[in-house]
Amino acid sequence: MNGLAEAVGAFALTRWVSRKSREDFERWQAAALRRFLDRDLPRAPFYGKAPARLTGLPVTDKALLMARFADFNIHGLTATEAWEAQASNGRVGALTVGASTGTSGNRGLFVISEAEKYRWLGTILAKAAPDLLWHGMRVAVILPQNTGLYDSARKSRLVKLAFFDLARGPESWRGALETFDPTVIIAPPKILRHLVAERFRLQPKRIFSAAETLDPVDRPVIENFFRLPLDQIYMATEGLFAVTCRQGGVHLAEDSVFFEFEAAGEGLVTPLVTAFRRQTQIMARYRMNDLLRLSDRSCRCGSPLRCVDEIVGRMDDIFRLQSAYGPILVTPDVLRNAVLKADRRIDDFRLVQASLDVIELKLPPTLADEAVTAVYQAVNALLETRKAKATIALIRTPMPLETGRKLRRVECRLETTP
Ligand SMILES: [Zn+2]
Repeated sequence: MNGLAEAVGAFALTRWVSRKSREDFERWQAAALRRFLDRDLPRAPFYGKAPARLTGLPVTDKALLMARFADFNIHGLTATEAWEAQASNGRVGALTVGASTGTSGNRGLFVISEAEKYRWLGTILAKAAPDLLWHGMRVAVILPQNTGLYDSARKSRLVKLAFFDLARGPESWRGALETFDPTVIIAPPKILRHLVAERFRLQPKRIFSAAETLDPVDRPVIENFFRLPLDQIYMATEGLFAVTCRQGGVHLAEDSVFFEFEAAGEGLVTPLVTAFRRQTQIMARYRMNDLLRLSDRSCRCGSPLRCVDEIVGRMDDIFRLQSAYGPILVTPDVLRNAVLKADRRIDDFRLVQASLDVIELKLPPTLADEAVTAVYQAVNALLETRKAKATIALIRTPMPLETGRKLRRVECRLETTP
């Protein structure tokens, strides 16, 4: 099958599945998952044979995937070969290689085939903007690096796609972006805010936040400027996981990923994902680093795919504190909400667990003193409620746009294992 046919097929399948009842959908998904376990998964040497049940397989994670990279893809491509390809043109024969951003040692690699690339494109279009497609669409993607995923779109006629390299900084491509005049913009929330702050001349019909956690503090600023609701695409090196529908529901991509959930406290879960439509790099029961709050309602759009109320942040960023009752965990959303509820004038901040008993609270010098006091007291009150043994170091500092790393307003800098 050629690329366009793959994209059209994935588009049609995605739309078709979205009209099923939940019951029919689950039956379809179970059959698709079973086919994957029998036919695709055994081709990766790590597995070698089909399991009786998905839950009989071991849980995997980034460390294991990277340690045994060649055993998880069906071509035996090694991590060294993949890094080499990634550093040059991102190609190994007909395969595309990409990597996630992150600190060195913490970067993930992925490898996909041409067919998968087009399938990804068809799927994302079907979810993100099915209505815009027929009117011709100009999509601006502003992300840390061109993963090669977007090459497929660049060649198709219905969609014009332009990639703007975050690493090179907005001033280097501002003119090109404005001239391109995108109808759809996909970018991290901090970049969308930068477009607002610098008053870029743009009239998109749809804007998506991607690649970083969308904090509630960013949403109104972006929505007011563009006069549009801000949608989300939740994707990672590991694939596409959720997209906002036209009714505002953030639907899990259960039509290509089977989700299991582990409880992470405070009503949050962290997902184990099985990408049952991926055939090159096999990903089964892969533990994501993200914290989600699942929705218990179904969406008005009628899609059978489950919704999340919130993508809260990363598991790594849960604060691990000592308290009068022993070790405790405080999730990023609780910390963030304490800051934001303290004063309405707060539109940026950082809260960093710098050591076991020190929390740095960073606020811009322009913020009014009463607001600073209110935030300090709110965080302090939260710690006292939990009987946490930690002190807050208040730092007034400007927070300029950083394009080289992901923005995490709530960040834990302790080593991963406590
Ligand atoms: Zn919906």
